Amino acid sequence: MIDPGTRIAIVGGGIGGLVAALALKQAGFRPVIHERAGAFEDVGAGISLSPNAVHGLQWLGLGDSLAKSANEPLEQRLCHAHSGALLQAIDRRHTRQTYGAPYLQLHRADLVAALAGRLAPEDVVLGAALASTESRSDGAALHFADGRQVPADCVIAADGLRSVVRDQLFDSAAPVFSQHVAWRALVPASRLPDEASAPFNINHLGSGRNIVSYPVRGRDLVNVVALTESAAWAEESWNARASVAELAAGFSDFAPYVQALIAALPDDNLFRWGLFTRQPLNNWVAGRTALLGDAAHPMLPYMGQGASSAIEDGVILARAFMASADVDSALRFYSATRIPRASLLQAQSNLGGARLHAIDPDRFQTVSLKDEDALGIFAYNPVTAPLAG
Ligand code: FAD
Repeated sequence: MIDPGTRIAIVGGGIGGLVAALALKQAGFRPVIHERAGAFEDVGAGISLSPNAVHGLQWLGLGDSLAKSANEPLEQRLCHAHSGALLQAIDRRHTRQTYGAPYLQLHRADLVAALAGRLAPEDVVLGAALASTESRSDGAALHFADGRQVPADCVIAADGLRSVVRDQLFDSAAPVFSQHVAWRALVPASRLPDEASAPFNINHLGSGRNIVSYPVRGRDLVNVVALTESAAWAEESWNARASVAELAAGFSDFAPYVQALIAALPDDNLFRWGLFTRQPLNNWVAGRTALLGDAAHPMLPYMGQGASSAIEDGVILARAFMASADVDSALRFYSATRIPRASLLQAQSNLGGARLHAIDPDRFQTVSLKDEDALGIFAYNPVTAPLAG
């Protein structure tokens, strides 16, 4: 059994770091999150969590608090970009019966608040920007930008796509622009057609572009995500305030429903993300440091599995700690269990954009569609999946 006093430092308090901390606490440990930001926060956008992730959140006892603010889509509707005609309706009504957990869509801030609300003050150091790290076979050291040094028996690096830990210990190659761009905003439902706040995920498909809407927060808000392609990313930052007029110009030939969505977008609150990828890694452990979430396996958002897979990581990590005699075995079990699964999600997600944007809506065939459900992704349960080792 691993000593419950083992010093576990988690770098990064995004969804991955928060879930890892709660799962390790539930397993009897006392991890500490070191988060660069001064508060737990997330972008103003929606998030979809498929049953594979919701199993993990229910295991953490978060089912009830999430149910208050989440919606369960009854259908995922695929519509013709220009005519708006329904091409396919994927039935999600039986998700709970089929997978034993619901498919949830919610405001990211509600998810982060539910996770962070379960932490005690001593579980977190905010304003802690990691500058560099060292990892040995018997421990690790974290060096922060403010000069603090923190020794640890084990480090979980959940510091996202541009992870300092990944750069220093695993892979110094810079993230690569995928030529995909995401535009995101939340719109008050009262400004949109009634259809936008019905319990559906509505995706209008056109060549090289698509735009999705679904309601969140008791259906008071509608999450809008447009995905486009661009040869280059010229912004200095990987996200930037975006112009509604520019988005409107790119979708001017889309159906009236899409025109209504775009016309209601807030001018001061539309953001655009350049989507970057990194090479898959076949090793996530260096000495006593392991990668988790986007730091380990960033993926394009076409299957909605980035945060979901980070949640799976956190649950498997805690189970590996519970099942192991020592930290080294736990990190070995964790990475051996997670690498095949996360690599599959990463590969399919990265292919998903090209696959979706290659669809000609005039020649749409349901057989050509590979969604997460059809790929068997929802059937995974991190609470019961066997640990590999
Ligand atoms: P992050 O969320 O990036 O968190 C990293 C944390 O580490 C941050 O809090 C950051 O401040 C902190 N940090 C970074 N560097 C340091 C440092 N040096 N020192 C200390 N702290 C540091 N996923 C889904 O499952 N469903 C969806 O519907 C979905 N939609 C998406 C839509 C879009 C447009 C995009 C871009 C992504 C989407 N994703 C979705 C993916 C999902 O957002 C990410 O995979 C997920 O948030 C990754 O979580 P993380 O905790 O690993 O990393």
